[in-house]
Amino acid sequence: MSEISHVLDQLDGTLLHDILVGVENQYENIAHVQKTWYMKTQFLCPDGCGKCCVGFEPDLMESEVLYMAAWLIENQYENALKIADGTFPFNNGNKTCPLFNPDSPYHCSIYGGRAFICRLFGASSFYNKAQKRVWKPCRFYPDDTLHAYSPSLSHRQFTEDEAATILGEMPPAMSDLMQMSETATESNKTVLLRDILPETIRRLLWIIQMNGNDNPNGTPNTPLAA
Ligand code: SF4
Repeated sequence: MSEISHVLDQLDGTLLHDILVGVENQYENIAHVQKTWYMKTQFLCPDGCGKCCVGFEPDLMESEVLYMAAWLIENQYENALKIADGTFPFNNGNKTCPLFNPDSPYHCSIYGGRAFICRLFGASSFYNKAQKRVWKPCRFYPDDTLHAYSPSLSHRQFTEDEAATILGEMPPAMSDLMQMSETATESNKTVLLRDILPETIRRLLWIIQMNGNDNPNGTPNTPLAA
């Protein structure tokens, strides 16, 4: 079931519709691959952690900011309008994502619409210079939990064999998962979330209105929301 089904209906027949469907399919693929890894290894982030969002704000590709905007319009319309006007829900300073809710145990206020990188925290490996896949536990993962494994885990790189011995399996590689994302992206250029999300929401609202517009001169039927 799509989390942006109404927005998709409103964009029917447009290129944006197809891009959004592609992004959502890739998010579902990532969730499936990660769920398989989590179920096999039981290596879960500590409850309510959220530290990976502190001091971090994602740079977004065009396709993922489009999905984020569509998700907000569908699931948090009032918030979407405020963000379109430049007002983000949380003032966390310049370095921390303005969608991070420090007072909620779930932390991300747009969880279903979050970016690719946000979906990869904690459950991805990477290729080292020798093109070997390695995995390093998240730097916020508690030492005592890592040390409870046998052999003990720590905040260092582990080879595929080591990860398989200790956890049962290496998590999927971030670059492989990101490649899945690039197929739906027109450009690899990225822009900081707070610099691109407001105008993307405004653009999407405008396109939605234009797409349902019967006026021959292309004037929207209703005043633009942003
Ligand atoms: S979008 Fe959500 S998960 Fe990503 S950095 Fe912001 S608060 Fe964290």
